Amino acid sequence: MKSRDEVIHIQNKHLKRQLERIYNNSPFYRKKMDTHGILPGDIRDLDDLRKFPYTTKDEIIAHNKELFAVSMKQIQRLQSSSGTIGNYYVAGYTKTDLEIWSSCVAASLEMAGLDSRDILQVAFNYGLFTGGLGFHYGGERLGMAVIPTSTGSTSRQLDFIEKFQSTVLACTPSYFSYLTEEMRKRHIQAQSLKVAFLGAEAWGTELRERLQSQYNIELFDIYGLTEILGPGVACECGIHDGLHVFEEHFYPEVVGIESEECCAEGEVGELVLTTLTKEATPLIRYKTRDKTSITYKRCECGRVEARIAKITGRIDDMLIIKGVNIYPQQVETILLRQREFSSNYILVVEREAYLDMAKIFIELESQFQGLDDDKRKEIIGITERMIKQELYISISITIVPEGTIKRSDGKAKRVIDRRKCNA
Ligand SMILES: [Zn+2]
Repeated sequence: MKSRDEVIHIQNKHLKRQLERIYNNSPFYRKKMDTHGILPGDIRDLDDLRKFPYTTKDEIIAHNKELFAVSMKQIQRLQSSSGTIGNYYVAGYTKTDLEIWSSCVAASLEMAGLDSRDILQVAFNYGLFTGGLGFHYGGERLGMAVIPTSTGSTSRQLDFIEKFQSTVLACTPSYFSYLTEEMRKRHIQAQSLKVAFLGAEAWGTELRERLQSQYNIELFDIYGLTEILGPGVACECGIHDGLHVFEEHFYPEVVGIESEECCAEGEVGELVLTTLTKEATPLIRYKTRDKTSITYKRCECGRVEARIAKITGRIDDMLIIKGVNIYPQQVETILLRQREFSSNYILVVEREAYLDMAKIFIELESQFQGLDDDKRKEIIGITERMIKQELYISISITIVPEGTIKRSDGKAKRVIDRRKCNA
């Protein structure tokens, strides 16, 4: 294994080449650097990179085609972030970019102790979204049997697990919750499943504890975003104490959400990423809008690569209710402390007579459907008090019958903000 110094040496070497590449080939960065009076030689190492201005999502969407640092002849693939027309970003991949992507996903799978004998079922969407194809080629690279079930058709999904004994599942945490719920209802044992990779949505340790206590499946958090690569930017090892960043390819920084100053180790801020090797659409100091912290301490697994904490939400998801800032993830954390509550819930925010009103509609876990009224009132009361104490806001909770909340095979919609519709 490498030492920390060796990692930094490789990063500095890649950074130098990357700055020359963008200055010579990316019209967007050429202009940005000229505007700020920066030449590639001015940034000699990672410390100097702090002089480089941030790159924002609005900028890259507005100047998408100018971000390309290669011609279409060298492009082998395009993928895109979600969003309405005019509001999504298209990333390009050269042959080398695709090879690096597969190798990062393969390394993520290896970190979970998997090898070519494993059977990977990819229940992420295939298409412009990076989840499906990203996992697909990573699994193939490791020599695994890959089953591209994609999203939807839950019956077929479960049938494949039963018949072909898939050992690994890759999907969103909300779809994983739904699949396990269906397994229980249909009395499917799924004993072959030993590992699941969950990504594309923030999910808390409460959900991990709940799912792992019910099923003998080890859950790994994997992080990525289309703008930078796709899944495989960072991944958990078997210690499950943060996600190792594939630092030879991505340089991570965490900066203050408002101050934009570099955070101290362990301090929560916004994740900023620089692609060190990306050829087609390189990004320098890209503000991801994801909230996390970073540590450089050697992990118990022996790896020296920096670790980011589990993403605790997107800055854009922040809700301001009655003047109080809250993240949906904070609400979920409190809800899941009651084992009777399921992870199927929805948070509705409305404005009544100029006042913000927040309500939660939540289902109970299947085994608690028969809970009597007194017990229901009790868990609602406890949870409402905890929300008030910890988040400084009153949110009323209503238990709804099982199956009321719409299930999702991709990213789940947990918040309905009706104030935006009325505005
Ligand atoms: Zn580790």
